[in-house]
Amino acid sequence: MLDDDNGWEPGPVFDEDETDYVLAPPAADTQTSAHDSPKPVYGDLESWLRKHLSQVIRRRFGGSLTWCSQWYRHAEAVSRLNAMWQEWEKAVVEDTMSTWWLYHCDPHLNMLMSKDSGPFMACKPDEHRQLEPLPLADSDPDLWLGTAFSDPRDPAPDAGTDAAVAASRTSSSPD
Ligand SMILES: [Zn+2]
Repeated sequence: MLDDDNGWEPGPVFDEDETDYVLAPPAADTQTSAHDSPKPVYGDLESWLRKHLSQVIRRRFGGSLTWCSQWYRHAEAVSRLNAMWQEWEKAVVEDTMSTWWLYHCDPHLNMLMSKDSGPFMACKPDEHRQLEPLPLADSDPDLWLGTAFSDPRDPAPDAGTDAAVAASRTSSSPD
């Protein structure tokens, strides 16, 4: 296990006034007492991205990898990156960084950077292109009355109603 003796630090921090990177304070310093929840190493997502993740993760883009410097314009990316940050803060406190890499960072980063299927697929690292939301046709409201969409504990819909008949036709259709 990692401990203070091996010199491990949570990660580099970019000092805005300097061109050098400085190390973040050790996670132990952020734990004021056993009763307080530890103060996060970074105050917000962008700080974590700018000062930690973007400094640690370095890739050559092209081929199957892409990125978008305007990541904040992608709702999916914001949600995934925020989840990664939250879990990273936990991993610092709980000393579970390997778990964070394998179960949080790798899957999210692989999806984010995938040129085939990720949210940045239409972007280039320095060029943002907005994609359309998933297309959704309006469903037939009666469809939701069918047995396939009902809670089995609820009373069955009237077998004689048009909705139930339509729903049973829909669910038994080969198409
Ligand atoms: Zn973009």
